[in-house]
Amino acid sequence: MTTANAAVLRTAGAAPRIETVTIDAPRADEVLVEMRGVGICHTDMVMRDGHLPVPLPVVLGHEGSGVVRAVGSDVSDLMVGDHVVLSFMSCSHCPSCDEKAPAYCHSWVPLNFFGARADGSTALTDAGGAPVHSHVFGQSSFATHAVVNRRNAVKVSEDLPIELLGPLGCGIQTGAGAVLKACHVRAGSSVAVIGVGAVGLSAVMAAGIAGAGTIAAIDVNPARLDLAIELGATHVLRSGDDFAALAAEAGCPAGFDYIIDTTGIASLVNAAILALAPRGEIALVGAYAPGTEVRADTTHVMSAGRVIRGVVEGSADPQTFIPELIEYHRAGRFPFDRLVEWFRFDEISEAFAAAESGRVVKPILRF
Ligand SMILES: [Zn+2]
Ligand SMILES: [Zn+2]
Repeated sequence: MTTANAAVLRTAGAAPRIETVTIDAPRADEVLVEMRGVGICHTDMVMRDGHLPVPLPVVLGHEGSGVVRAVGSDVSDLMVGDHVVLSFMSCSHCPSCDEKAPAYCHSWVPLNFFGARADGSTALTDAGGAPVHSHVFGQSSFATHAVVNRRNAVKVSEDLPIELLGPLGCGIQTGAGAVLKACHVRAGSSVAVIGVGAVGLSAVMAAGIAGAGTIAAIDVNPARLDLAIELGATHVLRSGDDFAALAAEAGCPAGFDYIIDTTGIASLVNAAILALAPRGEIALVGAYAPGTEVRADTTHVMSAGRVIRGVVEGSADPQTFIPELIEYHRAGRFPFDRLVEWFRFDEISEAFAAAESGRVVKPILRF
């Protein structure tokens, strides 16, 4: 058992408050991680506001990174002192996990949103002795320490600042993977990214890595469009309903080869589908409200081989993709640190507010 400070959410919509909790020792297939940094992702707000099936009280946080402090008896490939980035959880034995597609694990929702291990147990107890839900995205990393499954800890090299790397586990992997792993963007093609927050800007950088000829960033926030240009966008466009006009403005009168929607706004998706080139593909990456419908003319989709694709976590396998992104970063091709602003752990409320106002693209809490 370890004592930790954790940001506990007790009321949907309220700010999490830092409390002292105890954490169970890691089980046979788990490790204890001392957190050094944790990013704030849009999904943390969605969970805080009760729009996902996350039970309370709970510790959120799912872009953690830190140092292994204890390993369970069955863990042979991680050691005390290893640097790890924490990503999402998957089951290891369903048809998707068997084919190294853990983002589409058949148990994805319970393993990531139900605030417990697969057997329903939690690792956290509050000062009054009551259980607190843990293991959100397998980690619950808004805390000085977390017990996580070996499967969602990705070992990384130790020469980079570990506190920077947590967002590779969700938001940044999501945007970059949509381009590189889900759509397999072709060199010379055209890519439009709708919404250039952390996910969208990661998609912009990845489109550059893929060698896209046109990279159009579409948003309403001028500061973010400026940053998109610095990160490789060839065109920046003010978001509007007429995507065909936006495509023409970007020099793509036949439409875009790829459109990455990070906004989760169905009306934008429905309009964007009309601006897909023949064989064009739209990736749905945003947080769409349940029940939201995509509307598309079946002939428009069928007749030119267009594709409407759902994407979770960039379709990535974190164990291989996160080290790949770190190599791009090291080579100067993926400067995701440009998105980051630092906050202390006890400034978690300010960090949430900075993310929600749009002032900061990617807040990271540093311990
Ligand atoms: Zn699975
Ligand atoms: Zn996330």
